[in-house]
Amino acid sequence: MSWLLENIVSIFPLSYKRDEPIIPLSVNYFPHRQCNYACQFCFHTTKNLEILPLEDAKRGLRMLADQGMKKLNISGGEPFLKPQFIGEVFRFCKEELGLESCSVVNNGSRVNEKWLDEYGQYLDVMAISCDSFEPETNVKQGRTENGRRKDHISRVFEVAQWCRERGIKVKINSVITANNWEEDMNEQIKELAPERWKVFQVLLLEGENTGESSLRDARSLVITDEQFKYFLERHQGQTCLVPESNEAMKDSYLNLDEKMRFLNCESGGKVPGRSILDVGVQEALKDSGWNEQMFVHRGGVFDWSRETGRAASEPGLDW
Ligand code: SF4
Repeated sequence: MSWLLENIVSIFPLSYKRDEPIIPLSVNYFPHRQCNYACQFCFHTTKNLEILPLEDAKRGLRMLADQGMKKLNISGGEPFLKPQFIGEVFRFCKEELGLESCSVVNNGSRVNEKWLDEYGQYLDVMAISCDSFEPETNVKQGRTENGRRKDHISRVFEVAQWCRERGIKVKINSVITANNWEEDMNEQIKELAPERWKVFQVLLLEGENTGESSLRDARSLVITDEQFKYFLERHQGQTCLVPESNEAMKDSYLNLDEKMRFLNCESGGKVPGRSILDVGVQEALKDSGWNEQMFVHRGGVFDWSRETGRAASEPGLDW
């Protein structure tokens, strides 16, 4: 463990003893699984169309905030297929719960300026998924609507601009696969100038993108650690780049599904536990398989709210 990491762990307000309560500082909430894209590597596929009533979602979020949640990220499915739901969640999290950071990961296709004018004030970070700056590669990845539309890249630039005009931080998420590991994205990333560029190595998850019950098959997209390293080396000049190998990704997120159940990835799939709405946060956390050490190790300490006052040495959260 590096000197920096040891010091981060020593100041980080998380429990490393299982008999103490876990503080769920940062939570990834997947309110529904529906999506208008068909990415081949997707590991949260449209297995159902369920979504909680807004009031139940707010009740669960309040329970999490009471246990110490400071940051909420919404992911999907495509969150903006339910724009009012997520907008009201963000409003609630900021106005009622006083969360320090709200963020959303989305494919950019359904964001519009009307939503940003109403709800953008409650959003700290807009994370837009973009795996390639070559339209054909995005089609190959499935990062496109109905496998046809090729305007994904221009949408990414447009949404990034709208967010910047409103003081919302922009993050780009890219999944590196057999389709794009050789691509040089330096020029476009420089032009987009995100606050962070999160680069993920494609991950196989049983029941989601591999195995019998899965809706996708990402096996042909898998790359070696060496190939992932080549991609990172090619882009090492991008100071905003934050890499994430599939090992770091697997157990280091507190993921909450559409029924507010933590998803346990320890066994290579995503196994839902009990809902926090039924058993409370601490009981539900026992089912999560969360790797707190990995959470810190993958870089959970830095500035993550739209106000930039937080120093790098203070406990912060990933976004
Ligand atoms: S944009 Fe792609 S990865 Fe994201 S939820 Fe939709 S299909 Fe899955």
